[in-house]
Amino acid sequence: MTDARTLIVSHADVERLLPMPACIDLMAEALATTARGGAVLPLRQLVLLPGGRNIFAVMPAALEGADGHHGIGAKVITVFPDNAATDYDSHIGVVLYFDDIHGRLLAIIDASSVTAIRTAAVSGVATRLLARPDASDLAILGAGVQAMTHLEAMLAVRPITRVRLWSRGAARGIAFAEQASRRFGVQVDVCESAESAVRGAQIVCTVTAAREPVLRGAWLAPGVHVNAVGAAIPTARELDTQAVVQSRLFVDRTESTLREAGDFLIPRTEGAIDDAHILGELGSLVAGTLRGRERDDDRTLFKSLGLAVEDVAAARFIHERALADGSGTWIMIGGLRPER
Ligand code: NDP
Repeated sequence: MTDARTLIVSHADVERLLPMPACIDLMAEALATTARGGAVLPLRQLVLLPGGRNIFAVMPAALEGADGHHGIGAKVITVFPDNAATDYDSHIGVVLYFDDIHGRLLAIIDASSVTAIRTAAVSGVATRLLARPDASDLAILGAGVQAMTHLEAMLAVRPITRVRLWSRGAARGIAFAEQASRRFGVQVDVCESAESAVRGAQIVCTVTAAREPVLRGAWLAPGVHVNAVGAAIPTARELDTQAVVQSRLFVDRTESTLREAGDFLIPRTEGAIDDAHILGELGSLVAGTLRGRERDDDRTLFKSLGLAVEDVAAARFIHERALADGSGTWIMIGGLRPER
């Protein structure tokens, strides 16, 4: 049947339709599909806006599904870090989702919520594969949107009993702890320094918009697993050189890391590491073609940049679930020839 309608899915609907545990499994599948060649994934376009702080990004991909069809999509998003001090999200935009039969625009989905959930879910995949199975002591650096979804993802994959958080602004840290207690029933200890949050932790998530290191390798205990999420351009990093050098490094995508990841590129420019320091991609770990942690006292590091296949996989899942439960709003944009 001909149908030229497009479904609009809001932030609130995405949060309901994309629960964290399901998203973790979904991201594992999407990354494994990508690793075995089931995706078309060009590098994203990052437009650094005048002023040098804000970004406009376009992230396209096509990802093969279980039925053999490709979901086609693009996330179109602005990243305005200073929004953290306002009522606006620092990531605002949409994921456009198309089919591969007629190229129809099936859905327009809020990207703030998709980004918040899918990024943490990918760190959940990395933690499930790389952290020690008994890792229970979690440190989070940063207290924004990603900090909250990362807490949720870490709780989903490891038996977390202790959570420490450091935030540049103490008030934001305290507000975070209150919200986390309400949402997940966990106690979050707000620390005065990043070092006091990280010392002795078995899992560390860096989710700040910092451009200079907030995490020092000297603080990291043997056996730790780190998810480095916040920095996404070549000139910004959250980790110092030692934190990268001493770790077994895994990435979401090697090609993107070599172009975009200051956490990797700055130590490489210093001559501390070379390209061979990247041991491989998360998708290969999921597929079982790459070894992750080899010893209990290995320090493992997952450098996340975020991939469009993650957004396309999330969009397909959200679209299917929205159709099934009747959520979203239909609009007619176009796509039918006028004489019809
Ligand atoms: P938010 O704006 O919600 O939170 C940002 C956090 O970073 C706040 O806690 C803020 O503290 C802190 N921060 C900002 N600047 C500094 C600094 N110089 N030193 C220490 N802390 C700082 O952003 P999100 O949580 O949505 O995103 C966090 C980071 O993750 C961003 O850099 C974002 O671009 C990145 N990201 C990465 C993705 C990926 O796929 N890898 C996907 C999505 C986001 P304060 O409250 O004091 O301002």
